[in-house]
Amino acid sequence: EIVRKLFAGTAEFFWGTGSLGGLPPMHGLEIAFAGRSNVGKSSLVNALTRRKALARTSSTPGRTQELNFFRIGEGQESAFTLVDMPGYGYAAVGKDKVAAWTDLIYAYLRGRANLARVYVLIDARHGLKDNDLKVLDSLDKAAVSYQIVLTKADALKPGPLADRIRTIEESIIRRPAAYPSVIATSSRTGEGTVELQSAIVQLLHE
Ligand code: GDP
Repeated sequence: EIVRKLFAGTAEFFWGTGSLGGLPPMHGLEIAFAGRSNVGKSSLVNALTRRKALARTSSTPGRTQELNFFRIGEGQESAFTLVDMPGYGYAAVGKDKVAAWTDLIYAYLRGRANLARVYVLIDARHGLKDNDLKVLDSLDKAAVSYQIVLTKADALKPGPLADRIRTIEESIIRRPAAYPSVIATSSRTGEGTVELQSAIVQLLHE
């Protein structure tokens, strides 16, 4: 009931920034979503908050180079801030832009005491790629708690999906900041979205 009410409540964009100086003041808990460009992040964020276009789904990967902040469930006990991180690993973005992205993200991760967890989205069809591993390395280094969320689970049959989950869980078991279990989601079928919402609410109450 808390879960349903929280995510049915208001979800409002209140801050976007492409530079560290422009971060909003820390207020309440933040939950961030990260992932490679085109992983399905916008679609999942919209499915979670049941908004059609909270996070703009973009057909141009790598275009959103901003950290976007949304207040979820304002006025409710479990209100929190959802942080949509810019997608990474898009080759056509220039080297300078990649460096700027990396600087922004790492500085944000290190300095954000109210950041409760980063959900790292991984395309179920592709698994962990080199740039995902680099992001996990930096999260471990910054001691920021994170959990892997598979997207596009509908694209795999149950057997291969279970294999994918097991392989990833085995590969993250020794990572110090990783939450050990993986959540499989699909914004197309809705699979896993309630599980992810519940995980967020549980986290907010810890
Ligand atoms: P973002 O760049 O990470 O924000 O990704 P988008 O949400 O814009 O989605 C990228 C592409 O993946 C789009 O073509 C979507 O239609 C597709 N996509 C997103 N979610 C799903 C899903 O749950 N299942 C499948 N099969 N495709 C998806």
